[in-house]
Amino acid sequence: MGAEKLKEIYENLRSGYGDIGQWPADTVYEIMVGAILTQNTAWTNVEKAICNFAGDLTPQRIQTLPQEELEALIKPAGFFRQKAIYLKNLTGWYASYHFDPEAVQKEPIDKLREELLDLKGIGPETADAILLYAFEFPTFVVDAYTKRLFSRYPLEAGKTYKEIKAYVEQRLPRDVKVYNRLHALIVHHAKAHCKKKPVCEGCPLRASCATGIDPFYSEENRADLARRIADAKLGRNMHEHELES
Ligand code: SF4
Repeated sequence: MGAEKLKEIYENLRSGYGDIGQWPADTVYEIMVGAILTQNTAWTNVEKAICNFAGDLTPQRIQTLPQEELEALIKPAGFFRQKAIYLKNLTGWYASYHFDPEAVQKEPIDKLREELLDLKGIGPETADAILLYAFEFPTFVVDAYTKRLFSRYPLEAGKTYKEIKAYVEQRLPRDVKVYNRLHALIVHHAKAHCKKKPVCEGCPLRASCATGIDPFYSEENRADLARRIADAKLGRNMHEHELES
């Protein structure tokens, strides 16, 4: 159930925005670093931090760089003390594969996912982003934008990371390109239209999205309307009170 709806989302996003899906990085290791640095910050801040490495962003360098120097380099990405530790941990993990992407790719995905999740600072979203974008394993990355879109559309995909990931993976082919593209399209879509306050006008999913067809389908829009009515009533009561006094 839901496979048709999910494919409809995928195809309509593709026709609306084209085939996007490349992680903006030059090397496998840069993708890994970007996946850590992008936690709780905008991509523009990650770019500033990566720029500070002046083209010399290698696991060997991060491994030997003193903690304080690493912190200073990644400062623009925020939470730099924790992120420096996470980067050191991730680099230590990569060292156990001799910094060789092919050695990582030979391992079973479930084993690698477990190893990454055991590292401090790496949750399911970061682990899957590393496995999908850096090492090209077919694993779908769920983020807040995915949850938002699926609840507005809606897709009965569940609420937890695990449920939503399984929902997508059971309905779309286990294909790196498809997962890569769908995640990138959802991120792009969340910035272009399905924002915190949705801009449904011109959205490529509007004709089939329940919230696009009826704005009050969405619980958040109903709550927003209720708030505005309450504010208007409050304003009117205050106004009447002023007239009476
Ligand atoms: S129609 Fe509106 S709510 Fe639905 S996906 Fe588009 S922007 Fe989001």
